[in-house]
Amino acid sequence: MTHSIDLSRRSLLTATVAVGALGAMPALAEQAKATQAKATLAPDYVLKNIVLETGYAREAGEVIGTLTQKAAIVVRQGKIAAVIPDGGALPVGLAVRDGGGMLLLPSFRDMHIHLDKTFYGGPWVPPRKRKGGIAGQIKLENTLLPKMLPTLEERASKLVELLQGNGTTFARSQCNVDPVIGTKHVELLRHALEQRNATFGHEIVAFPQHGLVSANLIPTMRAAMAAGATHVGGIDPTAVDGGMEKSVDAMMDIAITMKKGVDIHLHEPGASGIAAIRRIADTVEREPSLKGKVTLSHSFSLMSLSEPELAELATRLAALDISVASTLPFGGRIMPIPGLLAKGVKVYTGTDSVMDHWSVFGSGDVLEKAKLACQLYGWSDEYGISQSLKIATGGPTSLNAAGEQVWPKPGDAADMVLVPASCSAEAVARQAPRKAVFHGGNLAAGALPDAVA
Ligand SMILES: [Zn+2]
Repeated sequence: MTHSIDLSRRSLLTATVAVGALGAMPALAEQAKATQAKATLAPDYVLKNIVLETGYAREAGEVIGTLTQKAAIVVRQGKIAAVIPDGGALPVGLAVRDGGGMLLLPSFRDMHIHLDKTFYGGPWVPPRKRKGGIAGQIKLENTLLPKMLPTLEERASKLVELLQGNGTTFARSQCNVDPVIGTKHVELLRHALEQRNATFGHEIVAFPQHGLVSANLIPTMRAAMAAGATHVGGIDPTAVDGGMEKSVDAMMDIAITMKKGVDIHLHEPGASGIAAIRRIADTVEREPSLKGKVTLSHSFSLMSLSEPELAELATRLAALDISVASTLPFGGRIMPIPGLLAKGVKVYTGTDSVMDHWSVFGSGDVLEKAKLACQLYGWSDEYGISQSLKIATGGPTSLNAAGEQVWPKPGDAADMVLVPASCSAEAVARQAPRKAVFHGGNLAAGALPDAVA
């Protein structure tokens, strides 16, 4: 086999947890907790010489530009404590950092990625033609993933560094839980991510890639939740898991009884996908504790709805605070993102497979997704491009839809990125380099100009 997958390279083995150590997971979990507690808060400081967006310039009602002002912010205890207009008095006694006159934006969130399965950080693995559909991929995983276990933490860490360099300071990672891997991926990924709590936030979805009910995985999924997963995952209830009601109900039941969120991979198109969405919505309606905690990933079935049908379902999803995570597919399959946003549905994006055996095209850069959204949906004027930043940030923008400055505000987490751009629209359109990236006030990637000099 000329293209056999070999990820057992020595370089990837350094600084990883040996497979033999997997038995010691409770100890590892304790260690991780201690690390989390020690996650260092940035010392308080002033970040001066930055540019903030303050409003839109309009002519006859049309947005013709973005207004900005120079400012400084005070960062205390990992949060933005104050915003000081240019010329205002800076607090005394704090370290002062210089933003180099760059635009400050909220940092980005990758809300659908598979950190556990990536080849990133290792050698190029030539992609093969898929054989036997999903069943063929699952068969491949049964032998591939155990071989990759020793390098999981190092691969995931390198991918996190790529994300951070792209301005992303938070990821919700899907994480395989299957009959062969059990809960090992959740344990290793959690350990790797907790080392980075100071500069990177995370959630972990226990993802039953091989089936939930059909793979008899419910006890293992419960163990994965106990091992630190924050969200119960799911997989196409009809197309993969062999029965819509029992699959959806099993997933929702784990979330309700273990007080976790839900994030389901819902690729199946048409009626069966819509039926699953409706059953999930019915469950959230009965269990309001799930409001704001359920995400539908992909949700290609929404493409099959007429405009009025989509409006009706989107209104219901918004009322139940059920979000949609989309990779913004293109080329014949265009997700109705504007229809969801129009009804108030929270829409997230993610880079999904960043170089793995499912796809090699993920870039780890969600700012690209904001630009792609502009191109797909015709958000091509200053206003549309500016507002598209929410695709990359998972919500926050400097200016709200009415053009009022809503970020940064005192109390906001100091999760932010400095870019050499005059406004959000320019940052998206020109894919501005991410020069300095902060999470909780800590520098996560890049450098400040004064630190470079
Ligand atoms: Zn996925």
